[in-house]
Amino acid sequence: MNSVPLFRYKEMILIVDDSNHILKLLSTMLESQGYSVELATSGRLALKSLELLAPDLVLLDINMPGMDGYRVCETIKSMPHYHSTPVIFISASDQVLNKVKAFQVGAIDYITKPFHLEEVLIRVENQLNQKRLYQELQRQNSLLKIEIEERLRVEKALKEANHKLHLLASLDGLTGIANRRRFDEYMAAEWQRCSRGNFPLSLILIDVDFFKLYNDTYGHLSGDDCLKQVALTLQGISKRATDMVARYGGEEFVVVLPHTPLEGAQEVAEKIQMAIAAQNIPHAQSSVAEHITVSIGVANMVPRPDTPLAEFIHRADQALYQAKLNGRNQIAFSPFVRQELTI
Ligand code: GH3
Ligand code: MG
Ligand code: MG
Repeated sequence: MNSVPLFRYKEMILIVDDSNHILKLLSTMLESQGYSVELATSGRLALKSLELLAPDLVLLDINMPGMDGYRVCETIKSMPHYHSTPVIFISASDQVLNKVKAFQVGAIDYITKPFHLEEVLIRVENQLNQKRLYQELQRQNSLLKIEIEERLRVEKALKEANHKLHLLASLDGLTGIANRRRFDEYMAAEWQRCSRGNFPLSLILIDVDFFKLYNDTYGHLSGDDCLKQVALTLQGISKRATDMVARYGGEEFVVVLPHTPLEGAQEVAEKIQMAIAAQNIPHAQSSVAEHITVSIGVANMVPRPDTPLAEFIHRADQALYQAKLNGRNQIAFSPFVRQELTI
């Protein structure tokens, strides 16, 4: 088993005092405790050492010839790289005003001379402990930030992948238009919406005529191409954002027209019939035309709670069946709407 070695990190302490006696006293004690110690006998030298050595803590005398301790401390606190270096004043003055000033210029603690070495040690260790904790906190914080950023990035990528997957799962592999699954979802949602808002909803079912014969004549791959072209044409006709064209299955397509009354659906159905004819895809074996044609069934209603959606789709299917029976290449309306149109 791995065990983490316990060792004391030797922080560096800069002692600033114009008294060699004090410097000696403090440095001997701190070095005996495992700290690395640097000495400065004036404020100016202290600032030089600071920039050179970047100590972890400064023990600072107040009364020194030239630059006094307050100015040294103020300067340290104004330096972007060192402003957080803890400064402990050591002074012969026990005056409250001096102590207040020391804290005002940025000291973190204040020790009066004459001092007990134990007191200096414990105060130094207190500050260094706080510094260590603060640094650890900052380290954890930046780790956390990195982790959060990474999670956000993964979440975003996942969302995008899910979105793509959802899109793919909603599209028909051959034609690229909405598939049956997407149609079922959309139809159910629009049925509810139109029911709540009392809006008319139209449904157009389209079936390619004699498509088995087309495959038999031109081959299955040409059949696929034909279905792609039909899908493209249907998509070109449905203009509104709420209209939906889907592949219902095999050579059957469906167009959902929310907010559309019967007349509107009839217009769309007629456009479809004309556009398919205009494609002029040759179908030599068809007995209704020399090109590909479609039979179309139309249903329309304002959805009511007493009519199930399946019944509505069945009506469109019945209409389509009627169009086939009537001779193909034509539009038929659900028996429930036919009357309305003839009025
Ligand atoms: P009707 O006029 O009565 O609609 O006759 P039909 O031949 O079009 O209808 P039927 O249901 O008998 O045949 C549909 C054909 O559509 C049979 C099937 O092989 C073909 N089909 C279904 N899906 C595809 C497809 O993805 N690609 C191709 N090439 N053919 C398909
Ligand atoms: Mg069919
Ligand atoms: Mg068919």
